[in-house]
Amino acid sequence: MNPIPYGRQHITEDDIQAVVETLKSDYLTQGPKIKEFEDAFASYVGSRYAIAVSNGTAALHLNALAIGVKPGDKVITTPITFAASANCVRYCGGEVVFADIDPETYLVDIHSVRKLLQASPKGTYQGIIPVDFAGRAVDLEAFRELADEFGLWIIQDSCHSPGGYFIDSKGQKQHCGNGKFAELAIFSFHPVKHIASGEGGMITTNDENLYKKLLMLRTHGITRDESLFQNSLEFARGKDNFSLASHNSAFPAWYMEMQELGYNYRLTDFQAALGLSQLKRADEGLVRRKEIAKKYYEAFQGQSFIKGQSGVVEGHAYHLYVIEIENRLGLYNYLREKNIFAQIHYIPVHLMPYYRQFGWEEGDMPNAEQYYKNCISLPMYPTLTNEEQEFVINTILSFFNG
Ligand SMILES: *Cc1c(COP(=O)(O)O)cnc(C)c1O
Repeated sequence: MNPIPYGRQHITEDDIQAVVETLKSDYLTQGPKIKEFEDAFASYVGSRYAIAVSNGTAALHLNALAIGVKPGDKVITTPITFAASANCVRYCGGEVVFADIDPETYLVDIHSVRKLLQASPKGTYQGIIPVDFAGRAVDLEAFRELADEFGLWIIQDSCHSPGGYFIDSKGQKQHCGNGKFAELAIFSFHPVKHIASGEGGMITTNDENLYKKLLMLRTHGITRDESLFQNSLEFARGKDNFSLASHNSAFPAWYMEMQELGYNYRLTDFQAALGLSQLKRADEGLVRRKEIAKKYYEAFQGQSFIKGQSGVVEGHAYHLYVIEIENRLGLYNYLREKNIFAQIHYIPVHLMPYYRQFGWEEGDMPNAEQYYKNCISLPMYPTLTNEEQEFVINTILSFFNG
């Protein structure tokens, strides 16, 4: 049996052709494929705007800048996530406050968030970053209500959940990143995620002002939109009064302004071409992920060694399939011997040495810490074959049941 990783990309001949065509075009960095990818992605998740960026971490950083995180701000997130969900707050000098998870869903527990908010005067916290961990969509309708009560913004980390959704109080599907409940959402196109572009990320929003700000921040804080220019026309033109009939602006064609301290977080056109080509197959991949999840669920349901599992949940995008078990290290090593490379998601972020320096310690997040002791993510990707999945399942059953 070939090595079986926990996740992997799937590159087709069409994907390769799409990249090759773009490499032969006039654009290597941002070109026409960027806008095409953005428009297709916005329509996929149901948001008004999408902004392609160099990776998911850059997307988080730009979101924190655009929403205005500043030194001293307090922002709430979950400890069971990739560190970047929290780090974006630190990039802007803000303070990360962790709230414990719900042991059933593995998502940040709205009750623990409410408790935090009620324990301090209003205005103590500025925002919350819920994470659709493993692909399970956070109930953002409930979080929006809570956020409005306490005057908070929401940045949704949907890196695990493109195509995922929750059912709102009216019975409607609400897709992750659709911009209805959170000001901003982010996605990643790292190869283990649903859609791969090498490195890559996307921000979605329904807010035009945030959209314009993000476009600027993505490229050094520079704008070429003359309706936004702050310097005088006279300054821009110099003393020269010559104008060109073919250039229908009073501003010279070279003129641009750097108005904010931005970054170079652009995606290349050939990465956008790859992402766009992959996006066309996203729904197919999602269907396959759900099949795999169902098969794991049925194989493990009722087994005495199972303490919990991702289960079969409507709207779950199944970036990961997690089971909770005793003797996790034993199983992990046993699987490795059989060439199955399961993974642990995640070591609680509050217990990383970097975050311990702010006073976080063991015992602070009992549910997250208990979850971490037992969790293991099983191979989950669309090209996992039935035979491979059966091998994974049988190897786990034989480890526990002999
Ligand atoms: C992958 C991931 C990120 C970061 O994305 P990159 O593209 O790797 O920078 C952020 N948050 C979560 C939950 C992720 O899984």
